[in-house]
Amino acid sequence: MSGGSGRLRGRTSLITGGASGLGLAIARRFSEEGAAVAIADLDEARSLEAAGELDGRALGLASDVRRPDQIEAAVERVERELGPIDVLVTCAGIGVVGPILETRLEDWNRVLDVNLTGTFLTAQAVGRRMVERGGGSIVMIGSINSRRPVALRNAYAVSKAGVLMLMWIMAMELGRAGVRVNGLAPGPIDTPMTQAMHGEPTRRAYQESIPLGRYGTPDEVANAALFLASDESSYVSGHMIDVDGGFDAVGMILPEGA
Ligand code: NAD
Repeated sequence: MSGGSGRLRGRTSLITGGASGLGLAIARRFSEEGAAVAIADLDEARSLEAAGELDGRALGLASDVRRPDQIEAAVERVERELGPIDVLVTCAGIGVVGPILETRLEDWNRVLDVNLTGTFLTAQAVGRRMVERGGGSIVMIGSINSRRPVALRNAYAVSKAGVLMLMWIMAMELGRAGVRVNGLAPGPIDTPMTQAMHGEPTRRAYQESIPLGRYGTPDEVANAALFLASDESSYVSGHMIDVDGGFDAVGMILPEGA
């Protein structure tokens, strides 16, 4: 363990999409804080590699969040090898960019299947176990697009708005069992996803619309995930925290000299 103060000592966590970007940063942060960490990702080789680099107890496995059988198998294996899951982070996600009138049904379905249905299936499988045991924390990764549209992100924004509603519904239904359900709404963060999706004009436009004037780092999102995963947020449920440099708070920033 390095750099942590044991805030997740004795806890077991499962992070979908944990082999890259935000999920990987969250896995590292949780591990530093003493959690046993399971990384479940479509990409088995990267899951194993990422888990192998963690200092504490860790497990890397292949699991497609679109497949209930694979989720169930992954959850069973994590609980058998690392113990009952106390913290779930649903981070697996994909994006497709383009105008709504040109969006193909297969792309629309793919984005909704991974981002929204995948979150539902994973949170349901783990949520059932948490309810039986009377506690747990689920953290769903939404987006600034959960609440506000950004041009050319149609299926993506719809899927993330759905994640916000799913988070509210699960917080409502699971709360009596002591299960907290929250989310994070990251603004643009430097990860392989944004490196692929954001060209120079997009990056400039974001920087100009964000009060802090820059992209966030995966570690800044991981710190917020740690808060929601740990007992420091023991009375927080049904809340999606913006980690967006102020983007959601802003109407319009005028250029200098305006
Ligand atoms: P990323 O591409 O670096 O990582 C996403 C991971 O999800 C990859 O490892 C990928 O293999 C995995 N994945 C994709 N489909 C999967 C599936 N069907 N089953 C299991 N795993 C699957 O992207 P990222 O930027 O780290 O994004 C992570 C999450 O954060 C996504 O939900 C994304 O929408 C959200 N998000 C990212 C940003 C950003 O600026 N990077 C902003 C807001 C929200």
